[in-house]
Amino acid sequence: MVSFKELGLVNTREMFAKAIKGGYAIPAFNFNNMEQLQAIVKACAETKSPVILQVSKGARNYANQTLLRYMAQGAVEYAKELGWEKPQICLHLDHGDSFELCKSCVDFGFSSVMIDASSLPYEENIALTKKVVEYAHQYDVTVEAELGVLAGVEDEVSSAVSHYTKPEEVVDFATRTGCDSLAISIGTSHGAYKFTPEQCTRDPKTGKLVPPPLAFDVLDAIMEQLPGFPIVLHGSSSVPQEYVDMINQYGGKLPDAVGIPEEQLRKAAKSAVCKINIDSDSRLAFTAAVRKVFAEKPGEFDPRKYCGPARDLMEELYKHKIINVLGSNGKAE
Ligand SMILES: [Zn+2]
Repeated sequence: MVSFKELGLVNTREMFAKAIKGGYAIPAFNFNNMEQLQAIVKACAETKSPVILQVSKGARNYANQTLLRYMAQGAVEYAKELGWEKPQICLHLDHGDSFELCKSCVDFGFSSVMIDASSLPYEENIALTKKVVEYAHQYDVTVEAELGVLAGVEDEVSSAVSHYTKPEEVVDFATRTGCDSLAISIGTSHGAYKFTPEQCTRDPKTGKLVPPPLAFDVLDAIMEQLPGFPIVLHGSSSVPQEYVDMINQYGGKLPDAVGIPEEQLRKAAKSAVCKINIDSDSRLAFTAAVRKVFAEKPGEFDPRKYCGPARDLMEELYKHKIINVLGSNGKAE
């Protein structure tokens, strides 16, 4: 048993309380490799933004859970080395799907876990979430739960259709489970293809797809039911057109990829939404930078020469999100 506190990590409790009061949101960035983690830590150290490092099932399969945890521990030390005296870094399990997995992360030094039982019937979701909360809270580890279903594909989480969270269920759910934050479904979606062209309209000037707006009426109704309760948005990449264009320009093929407009996320961040998950955007930045090097320098075979530019572009992306979308810069001085 290792406590996250020994590793210099923090849970989400204070982060979220401050974020709701301050009208901003904490970035939750997924990481799978060293370059991505370096980019996240550098961006957060430079902007003094609290951050949630997320480990998904796909990341655990790809990079190994043990290695990822030690990397997060290293991230705290790296942040200090970069001059961030009191780094506020949370290590979070993204989409935990069983009690055993959540327990193993709690025991291993994670400071926050998500139990996603949203695909189960309501009462079973409550029972499983409650069991995880009871275990995690013994060690001061915070728990995110989910009500409603997001469409899209992300690692091994996928659903063809979305079901908005029902505002009339949230008080009962939060009270009976004791969860610390709630991921809701209001029209965000996992992956780089969040909406089909049929769900969108087309901008007559540019011909680009315009996605349907988020259901702010559902968010408002949830906030009315649970005033001041931390709300989480998954699937909130914006799929920046510049990266999609860069990928397509250098031999890629991502037709009609579309995400959540940043103005809508900025609006959400000012409300009780205090954690916004961003994964696909950094995948796009990484891929765009690598493709550019490969296209321009076909003789290059040193991975540092293409992973380096990928790291730089991701860092730029993370800073942009922190400063212009989430508003979390300067909140972890
Ligand atoms: Zn998710």
